[in-house]
Amino acid sequence: MTAVDQLLSVRNVEQRFTARGTGGLKSGVVHAVSNVSFDIRAGETLGVVGETGSGKSTLARAILQSPRPQSGEVVFEGAELTRLRRRALVAARKNLQMVFQDPFGSLNPRWRVTDLVEEPLAGFGVRGVARRQARVRELLELVGLDPDTHGRRRPRELSGGQCQRVAIARALALNPALIICDEAVSSLDVLIQAQVLNLFEQLRRELGVSYLFISHDLALVRQVSDRVAVMHLGQLVEIGPAQGLYQRPLHPYTAALLDSIPGLDPVTGRARRPAPLPGEPPSPLHPPSGCRFRTRCPLAQQRCADEEPALRELAPGQQVACHFPLDQQGSPFRDAKAS
Ligand code: SF4
Repeated sequence: MTAVDQLLSVRNVEQRFTARGTGGLKSGVVHAVSNVSFDIRAGETLGVVGETGSGKSTLARAILQSPRPQSGEVVFEGAELTRLRRRALVAARKNLQMVFQDPFGSLNPRWRVTDLVEEPLAGFGVRGVARRQARVRELLELVGLDPDTHGRRRPRELSGGQCQRVAIARALALNPALIICDEAVSSLDVLIQAQVLNLFEQLRRELGVSYLFISHDLALVRQVSDRVAVMHLGQLVEIGPAQGLYQRPLHPYTAALLDSIPGLDPVTGRARRPAPLPGEPPSPLHPPSGCRFRTRCPLAQQRCADEEPALRELAPGQQVACHFPLDQQGSPFRDAKAS
């Protein structure tokens, strides 16, 4: 990837929090995101998957500098965001927007739809009421809402899908280059989910928007992503083209995640019963030495406890952090069930 088509470059980002032990919980340092690096090209959708607590949302917030990461670099459109002062950061954030999971919670309940969509335009100095109102109409039409019917409504008078469309219209108001979608369709029913995903794809085709698409739903991520990154306990364990990664996962955790979703057996073509993920994720307060997946991994050996595996490229564009990656035979978890 050249610097020209690179839109976002995340390098060695670390985010740690101090947890205060209350209510019987232990105190200590939570290793929420550890040494994560990846790039996103202009017009690309990168999916990020992993269990709850794997650090996906913390990573998204570290990219937005909310809060700033403890260390590492986040270069967006050539600007190193971690070094920017507040005013410059706000200006850079114009092109970097976020859509959250809860469409109701992300909108001011007292405001009308037109005011909600106009707010970012006014905030970034788009002058002239008529100009802003014309842009609001354009945005509402773009996301499939009738400005005359829905424009005067408040969030409580809209469905979940309509609220999410308003949140997307707000995110699009300033023509961003990158939208971070954090479980943006998870709370929607399947029909509305499909409509919103189609809308994202349409916006990508028509406006060239890039997405960082975070979800625990692997099937959904496969549908929308060019490449997919897999996170476990704050670390990136595998990244690569969606098709290759789903067809031939190299990391045992990726294979376990894929085995945990309903699908077709690649050999028999019959429906395969999903297998639960092995074990519980270790505490982010005290992650295991070496490979953080080793306490759940059936392939673990002494080296896995002694040495942290680094990402390395084993297939075109596909990198994995594992000392003993899977081969063509596929998931060890599936093999274990069969025996
Ligand atoms: Fe399993 Fe070792 Fe690979 Fe970690 S490094 S995933 S423990 S084989």
